[in-house]
Amino acid sequence: MPELPEVESLRRYLLREGIIGKTFELVSLERKPPGRNGSGAIACAKQTVGQTIIGVLRHGKQIALELNDFVLGAHMGMTGQIHIQLNKEPKPRFTRAVLTLSNSTDLILVDPRRWARFQIFDSVSQAFSKLGPDALDDTLTSELFTKRFSNRKSQIKPLLLNQEIVAGIGNIYADESLHRAKISPTRGANTIPMAELRRLHTAIRTTLNHAVKFIENHPDELGRPYIVDAYDERMQLKRKSGGFCPRCEIPLAINQLGGRTTYFCSKCQR
Ligand SMILES: [Zn+2]
Repeated sequence: MPELPEVESLRRYLLREGIIGKTFELVSLERKPPGRNGSGAIACAKQTVGQTIIGVLRHGKQIALELNDFVLGAHMGMTGQIHIQLNKEPKPRFTRAVLTLSNSTDLILVDPRRWARFQIFDSVSQAFSKLGPDALDDTLTSELFTKRFSNRKSQIKPLLLNQEIVAGIGNIYADESLHRAKISPTRGANTIPMAELRRLHTAIRTTLNHAVKFIENHPDELGRPYIVDAYDERMQLKRKSGGFCPRCEIPLAINQLGGRTTYFCSKCQR
């Protein structure tokens, strides 16, 4: 699933492609396939016709296109990607929506699993209103971070995935950050000493910044950021059975926490 680094890389890619100042001229959606949850979640994209893009913003895992009269929010779901390509180029498989821009290019939504969605908001602040502070934003100081976790009894890993507490961390980068900070994913947040919570805050920033840089340095053949691959070098943990802790070299433990597969080291994460 695209998490903060993948969505931030998408934002930077859209800016590089020069979409600011372009106007949506035409929107076409795939026909709803029988028996599938088809175009409903992206149908509101039709309202963008005639609107000019004046900003591309991100908060957590959500992206928002600021338009003349409203904001088009986009959530990439599990497998959504946005590409910019020339009108004349053939559309890739799993193209769900084609939003034609005023410079002979198309902004296209490609999404094999159809969980990505668009939503119309009145303003940027409304688009991001349900989200906690962004995990990479400087306003999320070490002090604010510890405050948001230190009096909660729940296990730390599911709390990290709660976008209302801190926005941008998903399953994979939560595991990476907890491993880096040497904290067990099952620890109750209120049992973790302040110094360790501060270490976790630093580990999250290091992990996310590392991933943003990795994606930037490894574009696909068309210069686009590619989607998260849990097995590439941006990950310290090899997320498969038989993976080892890079510090202790013992097999990683695999657990289900809040319905999400969790990889951790039972020796160095306490
Ligand atoms: Zn270990």
